[in-house]
Formats: sequence, structure tokens, C-alpha cells
Amino acid sequence: MTVASSIHAVRAQVKAWREQSARIGFVATMGNLHAGHMDLFRTIAPHCDRVVCSIFANPLQFGPAEDYAAYPRTLDADIDKLQSIGADLLFAPTVQEMYGSSGMSDTKVSVKRLNNLYCGKLREGHFIGVATVVCKLFNIVSPHVAVFGEKDYQQLAVIRQMVSDLSIPVDILSSPTIREKSGLASSSRNQYLTPAEKTTAALIYSVLCEMRKAIEAGDGNFNDLEARATTRLVCAGFSPDYITVADAMTLLPAQPDTRNLVILVAARLGKARLIDNVTVTI
Ligand code: AMP
Repeated sequence: MTVASSIHAVRAQVKAWREQSARIGFVATMGNLHAGHMDLFRTIAPHCDRVVCSIFANPLQFGPAEDYAAYPRTLDADIDKLQSIGADLLFAPTVQEMYGSSGMSDTKVSVKRLNNLYCGKLREGHFIGVATVVCKLFNIVSPHVAVFGEKDYQQLAVIRQMVSDLSIPVDILSSPTIREKSGLASSSRNQYLTPAEKTTAALIYSVLCEMRKAIEAGDGNFNDLEARATTRLVCAGFSPDYITVADAMTLLPAQPDTRNLVILVAARLGKARLIDNVTVTI
């Protein structure tokens, strides 16, 4: 695997592969790779000849009071994992390589409607940072296909909308959420949890599964389901940001006749902010 830190080196390598008619697959990450990231490589492998991965903790997508400085950075261990999974090229740029000496991007990509919902509303500027960096990474890597995790459901929706609106020539695949044995969705932020909090954190997925079961059994009182789930999480020590039954396509609150649903949750526990979701079809 080649490790590149410059935009120029990535472009040169991808150009050479494209000249050989190779199909380029892309996995964007912030590093500290875990089982959830690794599964993205398994999802994309049948769809491409070469796999490019990026590791970049993107300052643009962190709010001033968020965990940018504390975000776990484990480049050497990540390189070993990427090598073992057969990635072909790692792009691990500095902030300066991506954003110049200002460390900022004057140009921003805003997927307006989705920015005004859930994590977009609560984490001001977060999805603008995500869309801007992913757009930039697509321009650097020029992939034919890219994969994103369903764990970050709203992020996936933002990226699909951006790609469609800006006619970016890349196919977007999604990959199911990988979980620990307890049901807790794998996440770099799980390391902020104490062992006791980690046990508690598994409740998020249990609550989601119970809500799904109730909806599948015909319970259409979404407000009541959301309220009861919130109470359960609060009683266990969480501070929930939201728990919402939404339309799986638009992400707007579900209506009685909505058939494809997603239950989205974000909740704080100790030092961690955890997100998760499950889809339901009725
Ligand atoms: P991150 O490094 O957290 O920015 O995540 C990089 C990519 O990995 C995104 O597409 C995430 O949605 C995906 N991802 C992170 N955790 C999981 C997980 N538990 N299951 C599936 N995909 C994940």
C-alpha cells in the first residue's frame, strides 16, 4: 500500500490507474479504524479494482466545543489494518495540505434542507464541514465509487443529496452498521466511555429495536414511542439530543402513511455523544 500525504501524489497515482482502466473505489474516514470501517472495504471490494482510503480528522466538521483535539489519532495502527485488508493507497493529509495555512475553506458546500434537521441543527456547521471535505476528497481522488456507513444515516443522506445536486460522477454505496456484541454501534467515540458507561450504552440499540418491534406490530403513535424511549434513556443516565421516527428517504418526521421509516437517535452519555439508527418497513 502506498501512503501519500500530498494531493499531487494521490492524483498522479489515480491517473496512472485510470489510464490502465482500473475502477477506483474510495473509503473516507477520520482514522482510528475499527470493525465498522473495515467492513466498508468488504462492501466496496466487488465494485472496484483499486481501493483508496483517506484518513483525515476534518476540523471543519467539529464545533468549537467539540472533540477535535481529543479525537483519537492512531495512524500507525491504522496503516497496519489497511495493509491487512488490501487497501491500495492511503491519503493521509495534514490540515495545511487540505486547507492551506489558514486551515479553513472559504468555499463551503451546504446541503441546506438536511442541515436544518437533527444533527445538522444541533451541531451547527457539522454537515457543511462534512459535505465540503467529502466534495474536496472526491475532487482529489476522482473515485468511480465510494462507500459510506449507514451508521451515520443523516451523513449518508447529505452525501447522496450533494452528489445528485452537484452532478458529481461517483456512485455512492452504503454499508450496514457494524455493532459490538452488546449491540452498541462500533465508533471511535466509544473510547470516551468508561466500562460501566459502555454497558449502559448498549441500551440505545435495545430501545431502537423495541421501537421497531412496536411499529412493526402496528403501533403508529410515533410521538408516544419517542417520548417513552426518551424517558428510558434519561432514566439510564443519557442526555438524549433527539429520538425521532422519520421518513427514511426525506428524514422528515414520519406521517401515518409513511411506509419506509428510520428511527434516528443521538444521545450523550458521559463524555461521548452517540448516534444510531434502525430502519423499519411497514
Ligand atoms: P468516521 O471515521 O467516523 O468519519 O467514519 C468513516 C466511515 O465509516 C463513515 O462512512 C461512517 O459512516 C463509517 N462507519 C463508522 N462506524 C461505522 C459502523 N459502526 N458501521 C458501519 N460504518 C461505520
